Amino acid sequence: MIYIGAHMPIGGGFKRVPRETVEIGGNTFQIFPHNPRQWNASYPKEEDIKKFKEGLHKFNIMQQYMLCHSGYLINIASPKKDGWEKSLKLLIKEMEICSMLGIKYLNIHPGSHLGIGEEVGIKKIVEALNIALDSEKNTIILLENVTKKGGNIGYKIEHLKKIIDKVKYPERLGITIDTCHAWDAGYDIVNKLDEFLTMIDKLIGLNNLKFIHLNDSKNELGSNKDRHENIGKGKIGNDGLKVFLNHEIIKKIPWILETPGDNEVHKNDIKEVLKLVEVN
Ligand code: MN
Ligand code: MN
Ligand code: ZN
Repeated sequence: MIYIGAHMPIGGGFKRVPRETVEIGGNTFQIFPHNPRQWNASYPKEEDIKKFKEGLHKFNIMQQYMLCHSGYLINIASPKKDGWEKSLKLLIKEMEICSMLGIKYLNIHPGSHLGIGEEVGIKKIVEALNIALDSEKNTIILLENVTKKGGNIGYKIEHLKKIIDKVKYPERLGITIDTCHAWDAGYDIVNKLDEFLTMIDKLIGLNNLKFIHLNDSKNELGSNKDRHENIGKGKIGNDGLKVFLNHEIIKKIPWILETPGDNEVHKNDIKEVLKLVEVN
Protein backbone atom coordinates (compact mmCIF):
# COMPACT_ATOMS: atom_id res chain seq x y z
CA MET A 1 0.00 0.00 0.00
CA ILE A 2 1.31 3.41 -0.99
CA TYR A 3 0.43 6.33 1.26
CA ILE A 4 0.30 9.57 -0.65
CA GLY A 5 -1.38 12.92 -0.17
CA ALA A 6 -0.74 16.64 -0.18
CA HIS A 7 -0.64 19.75 1.90
CA MET A 8 -4.34 20.61 2.20
CA PRO A 9 -6.08 23.99 2.65
CA ILE A 10 -7.87 24.71 5.96
CA GLY A 11 -9.63 27.92 4.86
CA GLY A 12 -13.05 26.31 5.19
CA GLY A 13 -12.24 24.65 8.50
CA PHE A 14 -10.46 21.44 9.40
CA LYS A 15 -13.64 19.48 8.71
CA ARG A 16 -13.16 19.67 4.93
CA VAL A 17 -9.71 18.06 4.99
CA PRO A 18 -10.53 14.31 5.20
CA ARG A 19 -13.05 14.41 2.35
CA GLU A 20 -10.85 16.55 0.11
CA THR A 21 -7.88 14.30 0.78
CA VAL A 22 -9.80 11.35 -0.62
CA GLU A 23 -11.20 13.47 -3.48
CA ILE A 24 -7.69 14.20 -4.76
CA GLY A 25 -6.76 10.52 -4.53
CA GLY A 26 -4.94 10.72 -1.22
CA ASN A 27 -4.91 8.66 1.97
CA THR A 28 -2.56 10.87 4.02
CA PHE A 29 -2.35 14.66 4.42
CA GLN A 30 -0.56 17.65 5.88
CA ILE A 31 -2.20 20.85 7.15
CA PHE A 32 -1.24 24.05 8.91
CA PRO A 33 -2.73 24.22 12.42
CA HIS A 34 -3.55 27.93 11.85
CA ASN A 35 -2.83 30.72 9.37
CA PRO A 36 0.93 30.19 8.93
CA ARG A 37 1.66 33.86 8.27
CA GLN A 38 0.24 35.14 11.55
CA TRP A 39 1.51 35.20 15.12
CA ASN A 40 -1.93 34.80 16.60
CA ALA A 41 -3.59 31.43 16.32
CA SER A 42 -6.96 30.37 17.65
CA TYR A 43 -7.98 26.97 18.91
CA PRO A 44 -10.31 25.06 16.59
CA LYS A 45 -14.02 25.18 17.36
CA GLU A 46 -15.66 22.18 19.04
CA GLU A 47 -17.98 21.60 16.07
CA ASP A 48 -15.10 21.73 13.57
CA ILE A 49 -13.08 19.20 15.59
CA LYS A 50 -16.09 16.89 15.80
CA LYS A 51 -16.71 16.99 12.05
CA PHE A 52 -13.00 16.62 11.32
CA LYS A 53 -12.84 13.46 13.42
CA GLU A 54 -16.04 12.11 11.87
CA GLY A 55 -14.45 12.65 8.46
CA LEU A 56 -11.29 10.81 9.45
CA HIS A 57 -13.39 7.88 10.54
CA LYS A 58 -15.60 7.95 7.44
CA PHE A 59 -12.68 8.15 5.03
CA ASN A 60 -10.53 5.78 7.05
CA ILE A 61 -7.54 8.07 7.60
CA MET A 62 -5.37 6.83 10.42
CA GLN A 63 -3.36 8.84 12.92
CA GLN A 64 0.06 7.87 11.60
CA TYR A 65 -0.87 9.41 8.23
CA MET A 66 -1.75 12.89 9.49
CA LEU A 67 0.79 15.67 9.76
CA CYS A 68 0.70 19.30 10.85
CA HIS A 69 3.24 21.80 9.51
CA SER A 70 4.34 24.60 11.79
CA GLY A 71 3.75 28.25 10.78
CA TYR A 72 6.27 30.28 8.78
CA LEU A 73 7.02 32.89 11.45
CA ILE A 74 8.28 30.51 14.10
CA ASN A 75 12.05 30.50 14.62
CA ILE A 76 13.13 28.67 17.78
CA ALA A 77 16.79 29.09 16.76
CA SER A 78 16.49 32.87 17.01
CA PRO A 79 19.15 34.66 19.06
CA LYS A 80 16.67 37.50 19.66
CA LYS A 81 14.93 37.08 22.99
CA ASP A 82 11.49 38.33 22.02
CA GLY A 83 11.45 36.47 18.69
CA TRP A 84 12.50 33.25 20.40
CA GLU A 85 9.89 33.61 23.15
CA LYS A 86 7.09 34.39 20.69
CA SER A 87 8.17 31.39 18.59
CA LEU A 88 8.17 29.05 21.56
CA LYS A 89 4.75 30.26 22.69
CA LEU A 90 3.23 29.73 19.25
CA LEU A 91 4.92 26.33 18.87
CA ILE A 92 3.33 25.16 22.11
CA LYS A 93 -0.04 26.43 20.91
CA GLU A 94 0.41 24.53 17.65
CA MET A 95 1.14 21.37 19.63
CA GLU A 96 -2.05 21.94 21.61
CA ILE A 97 -4.04 22.38 18.41
CA CYS A 98 -2.53 19.15 17.03
CA SER A 99 -3.54 17.39 20.20
CA MET A 100 -7.12 18.71 20.01
CA LEU A 101 -7.37 17.43 16.44
CA GLY A 102 -5.88 14.07 17.35
CA ILE A 103 -2.85 14.70 15.13
CA LYS A 104 0.29 13.18 16.57
CA TYR A 105 2.99 14.69 14.34
CA LEU A 106 4.03 18.34 14.01
CA ASN A 107 6.65 19.10 11.35
CA ILE A 108 8.93 22.05 12.04
CA HIS A 109 11.88 23.73 10.31
CA PRO A 110 14.68 23.73 12.88
CA GLY A 111 15.12 27.47 12.40
CA SER A 112 17.66 30.14 11.46
CA HIS A 113 20.50 31.33 13.67
CA LEU A 114 20.27 34.69 11.86
CA GLY A 115 24.00 34.94 11.42
CA ILE A 116 25.31 34.12 14.88
CA GLY A 117 26.34 30.55 14.11
CA GLU A 118 25.03 27.03 14.00
CA GLU A 119 26.18 25.91 17.45
CA VAL A 120 24.35 28.72 19.23
CA GLY A 121 21.31 28.16 17.00
CA ILE A 122 21.18 24.48 17.88
CA LYS A 123 21.42 25.36 21.57
CA LYS A 124 18.43 27.71 21.28
CA ILE A 125 16.44 25.03 19.41
CA VAL A 126 17.14 22.43 22.09
CA GLU A 127 16.21 24.89 24.85
CA ALA A 128 12.88 25.65 23.17
CA LEU A 129 12.07 22.02 22.40
CA ASN A 130 12.73 21.01 26.01
CA ILE A 131 10.22 23.58 27.25
CA ALA A 132 7.68 22.75 24.53
CA LEU A 133 7.86 18.99 25.07
CA ASP A 134 7.46 19.51 28.81
CA SER A 135 4.45 21.72 28.35
CA GLU A 136 2.48 19.57 25.88
CA LYS A 137 2.87 15.83 26.17
CA ASN A 138 1.06 14.31 23.18
CA THR A 139 2.78 15.72 20.15
CA ILE A 140 5.78 14.24 18.37
CA ILE A 141 7.96 16.90 16.73
CA LEU A 142 9.41 16.09 13.32
CA LEU A 143 12.47 18.07 12.26
CA GLU A 144 12.49 18.78 8.53
CA ASN A 145 15.69 18.97 6.52
CA VAL A 146 16.02 22.35 4.79
CA THR A 147 18.40 24.09 2.40
CA LYS A 148 21.45 26.15 3.23
CA LYS A 149 20.27 29.72 3.04
CA GLY A 150 19.45 32.52 5.45
CA GLY A 151 21.31 30.93 8.35
CA ASN A 152 19.12 27.83 8.24
CA ILE A 153 19.98 24.96 10.52
CA GLY A 154 19.07 21.51 9.21
CA TYR A 155 20.52 21.46 5.70
CA LYS A 156 22.74 18.68 6.98
CA ILE A 157 21.29 15.53 8.50
CA GLU A 158 23.99 15.87 11.17
CA HIS A 159 22.25 19.03 12.43
CA LEU A 160 19.04 17.08 13.00
CA LYS A 161 20.99 14.40 14.83
CA LYS A 162 22.67 16.97 17.09
CA ILE A 163 19.30 18.40 18.07
CA ILE A 164 17.77 14.99 18.77
CA ASP A 165 20.79 13.92 20.82
CA LYS A 166 20.65 16.98 23.02
CA VAL A 167 16.91 17.11 23.70
CA LYS A 168 15.55 15.80 26.99
CA TYR A 169 12.96 13.60 25.26
CA PRO A 170 14.63 12.22 22.11
CA GLU A 171 11.86 9.63 21.80
CA ARG A 172 9.43 12.46 21.06
CA LEU A 173 11.40 13.67 18.05
CA GLY A 174 11.58 12.31 14.53
CA ILE A 175 12.39 13.65 11.09
CA THR A 176 10.80 14.47 7.75
CA ILE A 177 12.86 14.35 4.58
CA ASP A 178 11.90 16.91 1.93
CA THR A 179 13.13 15.71 -1.46
CA CYS A 180 13.48 19.21 -2.93
CA HIS A 181 15.40 20.42 0.13
CA ALA A 182 17.67 17.36 0.16
CA TRP A 183 18.38 17.77 -3.56
CA ASP A 184 18.99 21.50 -3.30
CA ALA A 185 21.25 20.91 -0.27
CA GLY A 186 23.41 18.63 -2.41
CA TYR A 187 22.20 15.16 -1.39
CA ASP A 188 21.91 13.03 -4.51
CA ILE A 189 18.76 11.13 -3.58
CA VAL A 190 18.73 9.48 -7.02
CA ASN A 191 22.21 8.14 -7.72
CA LYS A 192 23.29 7.89 -4.09
CA LEU A 193 20.01 6.98 -2.47
CA ASP A 194 21.32 3.94 -0.62
CA GLU A 195 24.18 5.97 0.77
CA PHE A 196 21.75 8.69 1.86
CA LEU A 197 19.45 6.24 3.63
CA THR A 198 22.34 4.41 5.27
CA MET A 199 23.57 7.71 6.65
CA ILE A 200 20.13 8.57 8.03
CA ASP A 201 19.93 5.13 9.58
CA LYS A 202 23.32 5.48 11.24
CA LEU A 203 22.71 8.99 12.54
CA ILE A 204 19.03 8.96 13.45
CA GLY A 205 17.55 5.55 12.68
CA LEU A 206 15.25 4.99 9.70
CA ASN A 207 12.41 4.14 12.09
CA ASN A 208 12.45 7.81 13.07
CA LEU A 209 11.95 8.98 9.48
CA LYS A 210 8.18 9.44 9.59
CA PHE A 211 7.23 11.40 6.46
CA ILE A 212 8.56 12.33 3.03
CA HIS A 213 7.79 15.77 1.61
CA LEU A 214 7.63 14.78 -2.02
CA ASN A 215 8.57 17.68 -4.27
CA ASP A 216 10.44 18.02 -7.51
CA SER A 217 12.97 20.87 -7.59
CA LYS A 218 13.18 23.80 -10.02
CA ASN A 219 16.96 23.80 -9.58
CA GLU A 220 20.04 21.65 -9.97
CA LEU A 221 21.52 19.37 -7.31
CA GLY A 222 23.26 21.51 -4.67
CA SER A 223 21.71 24.80 -5.82
CA ASN A 224 20.68 25.74 -2.23
CA LYS A 225 17.56 27.41 -3.59
CA ASP A 226 14.41 25.69 -2.22
CA ARG A 227 11.99 26.17 -5.10
CA HIS A 228 9.49 23.32 -5.27
CA GLU A 229 8.31 22.05 -8.66
CA ASN A 230 5.45 19.80 -9.74
CA ILE A 231 6.17 16.11 -10.14
CA GLY A 232 8.25 15.35 -13.22
CA LYS A 233 8.62 18.98 -14.24
CA GLY A 234 11.78 19.73 -12.28
CA LYS A 235 15.44 18.80 -12.21
CA ILE A 236 14.94 15.62 -10.20
CA GLY A 237 12.47 14.68 -12.91
CA ASN A 238 10.41 11.57 -13.53
CA ASP A 239 13.44 9.33 -14.00
CA GLY A 240 15.00 10.49 -10.73
CA LEU A 241 11.76 10.33 -8.77
CA LYS A 242 11.12 6.87 -10.14
CA VAL A 243 14.35 5.62 -8.61
CA PHE A 244 13.61 7.36 -5.31
CA LEU A 245 10.00 6.26 -4.97
CA ASN A 246 10.57 2.63 -5.82
CA HIS A 247 13.06 2.13 -3.02
CA GLU A 248 11.61 -0.41 -0.57
CA ILE A 249 12.27 1.84 2.43
CA ILE A 250 10.81 4.95 0.83
CA LYS A 251 7.71 3.05 -0.29
CA LYS A 252 6.76 2.33 3.32
CA ILE A 253 6.80 5.99 4.40
CA PRO A 254 3.85 8.35 3.73
CA TRP A 255 4.52 10.91 0.97
CA ILE A 256 3.17 14.46 1.20
CA LEU A 257 3.21 16.71 -1.85
CA GLU A 258 4.09 20.37 -1.31
CA THR A 259 4.16 21.15 -4.99
CA PRO A 260 2.87 24.48 -6.35
CA GLY A 261 -0.88 24.65 -6.95
CA ASP A 262 -4.23 23.81 -5.40
CA ASN A 263 -6.14 20.57 -4.82
CA GLU A 264 -6.77 20.07 -8.54
CA VAL A 265 -3.07 20.34 -9.35
CA HIS A 266 -2.21 18.00 -6.47
CA LYS A 267 -4.76 15.51 -7.76
CA ASN A 268 -2.79 15.47 -10.99
CA ASP A 269 0.56 15.26 -9.18
CA ILE A 270 -0.72 12.21 -7.28
CA LYS A 271 -1.64 10.58 -10.60
CA GLU A 272 1.82 11.33 -11.95
CA VAL A 273 3.46 9.86 -8.85
CA LEU A 274 1.43 6.68 -9.00
CA LYS A 275 2.45 6.19 -12.64
CA LEU A 276 6.06 6.09 -11.45
CA VAL A 277 5.54 3.53 -8.73
CA GLU A 278 5.79 -0.17 -9.36
CA VAL A 279 3.14 -1.75 -7.20
CA ASN A 280 3.72 -5.36 -6.36
MN1 MN B 1 8.55 22.74 5.42
MN1 MN C 1 8.85 20.52 3.04
ZN1 ZN D 1 10.69 24.08 0.75
